[in-house]
Amino acid sequence: MTTVRADNLQLDAFADGLRRTGDARPFDFCSLSEGFLYPERARPGVLDYFFFACAHQFGFWTLAGNRWAGPMVAPLDGRNLKGSDFLWRACTRAWQRNPDSFVPIALDAMTDAGLNTLFQSDADINPLPMWRDHLALTRGYARWFVARALTPTDVLRCAQAAPKPLAALLAALAEIPGYAEDPLQKKAMLLAIVLENRPEHFLQVTDPESAVPIIDYHLQRSALRTGLVRVENPALLAKLESRVTVTAAEEGAVRAATYDAIQQLMARSGLSAAAVDWFFFRNRTRCPETTEPDCSACPVQAICAKATRLFQPVFRTTAY
Ligand code: SF4
Repeated sequence: MTTVRADNLQLDAFADGLRRTGDARPFDFCSLSEGFLYPERARPGVLDYFFFACAHQFGFWTLAGNRWAGPMVAPLDGRNLKGSDFLWRACTRAWQRNPDSFVPIALDAMTDAGLNTLFQSDADINPLPMWRDHLALTRGYARWFVARALTPTDVLRCAQAAPKPLAALLAALAEIPGYAEDPLQKKAMLLAIVLENRPEHFLQVTDPESAVPIIDYHLQRSALRTGLVRVENPALLAKLESRVTVTAAEEGAVRAATYDAIQQLMARSGLSAAAVDWFFFRNRTRCPETTEPDCSACPVQAICAKATRLFQPVFRTTAY
């Protein structure tokens, strides 16, 4: 029996609400923090940078026993940065020192210690909670390209030449370590919207119907709290409320229902995957992990279920 499902009435309300708020539009992964979080536009090595960095967008939180303990936050270049921002900045710092840092052949030649150094904080430690996984994926990723004498530019060129460039890119990424592990292709689709929306417009998408939802932990938390996804299993509800680890099957059920909900939201609202993702990306700060959300200031408060006790599945994965 399905115990986690997308809620039809909430989907209709949010499809209408998102269209009206005008708060959902694609983000360009540049202008908000050009030269700090993200590389400056139109420079060498930017494509290699994003192919690498998107594959490492996962696991930015800590566990204490079987309970979620907090988001990863670490100081870098004088600022305290949360996980994803820390990773973008660390990669941008490396790229600014050497634009070829993320070219696969250069990654392949780096030692484990050298790779570790790329992610050192101002406190001289690498704070990434899943570093071993980052390292293993980096090794697999670099070898995949080197063994085939390919580069990210080759993969992109091939995808762009296909009748359906987005579908072709997602299919190519499904073979590459760092992207291949997730059947729901969260990081692959993230890379696709980056390449489409960056000022360089690396990817011209002529097949928007090939887009897939980008399901990370922030989106699952938002889907649960807004009522877009309903959990009918009391034991799972209790786990989600108390922020303890869930099983792979439980995580799979919540993530699959969230995927279904976002796919339907895209279809019903007519908004792109990038626009829907940008709305929920911003919602992660309105509806945060560590403090009570300020529902009265939220643009969707009139239609939200406000199930603020619910939390994303606590589950270690390299998918998100
Ligand atoms: S802040 Fe409140 S109203 Fe907004 S999405 Fe979160 S729970 Fe809903």
